[in-house]
Amino acid sequence: MIPLVSNLVFTPENINSSSESGVSIILKNQEFLTSKNSEILLFEDEDLKWSEMTFVDKQFIGYLNDKPCFFNVLNSDSILSKETMLTPLRGLLGRMPDALFTVCSRSLQLSDWKRNNQFCGVCGSPMNSHETERAMFCECNNLFIYPRISPCIIVLVTKGEEMLLAHNKNFPGTFYSTLAGFIEAGESAEAAIHREIYEEVKVKVQNIEYFGSQSWPFPSQLMLGYHAEYLEGEIQPDGVEIDHADWFHFEDLPQVPTGNISISGQLIESYLNKLKN
Ligand SMILES: [Zn+2]
Repeated sequence: MIPLVSNLVFTPENINSSSESGVSIILKNQEFLTSKNSEILLFEDEDLKWSEMTFVDKQFIGYLNDKPCFFNVLNSDSILSKETMLTPLRGLLGRMPDALFTVCSRSLQLSDWKRNNQFCGVCGSPMNSHETERAMFCECNNLFIYPRISPCIIVLVTKGEEMLLAHNKNFPGTFYSTLAGFIEAGESAEAAIHREIYEEVKVKVQNIEYFGSQSWPFPSQLMLGYHAEYLEGEIQPDGVEIDHADWFHFEDLPQVPTGNISISGQLIESYLNKLKN
């Protein structure tokens, strides 16, 4: 097995043009093979040859430090060694180098995509992997089904020294975060920001500024992060998604996500740094 180092670089690709031996991660039912300490395991081709594990699917996903990188899907009755276990990706957040998180994120989304697109939605025939593109393909209608990514906006609304943070009804106890929502078909990211924030807390915003993005594979969101300034309105949580929201002074924040895990945490940390400097 390959020891984990922090200077890994991952480049996504669809066609393997390297003759080098590869490295693999292993997953099953959306969980990843890890050590008992929940450290993701990376295998050389040679390691897999001699293991007792058997696989139902293997896909090339890109290059990890110039080596071809694959994910392998474990057979349902495959035997795991005593030193390993399966861990959901959420349990690995913030616990591995960014490049490996990208490897896992891409693997999870591509394995789901392939499993969920076995049959053509037009004629019902089995679909095939396209030879030159990352697509499931059916000849009936020249139909290509590419991996689906769902863009979402995620926004930290601020008013001077205060931040608007919300408690989603699915969040544990005292955990608060920034507002977020899916971009509708045909809608711009900016329009989605105004609509989502107004729908969720009845507040209007101005001076929207793009911050950065993050792949969030639960199941397939691309989070587009923004800062926005409060314009007008009294906070009124929608009661459907958001059960409580409020203005929090930067020196008296509730429990919020950290920047090493999510872009929500990065938005909050970047605003804190701005206020403190
Ligand atoms: Zn078809």
